[in-house]
Amino acid sequence: MTVPKLHVRKDDQVIVIAGKDRGKRGKVLKTLPREGRVVVEGINVVHKHQQPTQEMQQGGIMEIEAPIDSSNVMLVCKHCDQGARTGKEFLDSGEKVRVCKKCGEIVD
Ligand SMILES: [Zn+2]
Repeated sequence: MTVPKLHVRKDDQVIVIAGKDRGKRGKVLKTLPREGRVVVEGINVVHKHQQPTQEMQQGGIMEIEAPIDSSNVMLVCKHCDQGARTGKEFLDSGEKVRVCKKCGEIVD
């Protein structure tokens, strides 16, 4: 079985286009291609209650980023600084790169 590729990758700068964090930007911390989801820094933060452990006797609340659907984020082009759709292009070297459909610049 092949895992579908996501349009964003780890360390990409993305903008959220749907949901409660719409309009926010963040860096992709993790991609979950099988689920079509991504984890973005500071986006979809949920509070997780921790059971007290020997080290942390109080237990407590941890803030973690929950995955969001990859279709809810858009890559931010570093050239035109906007959420942009990307196309694929092949360089002379045969390397495949992503190209911003707004300004035409290579975003990889
Ligand atoms: Zn652009």
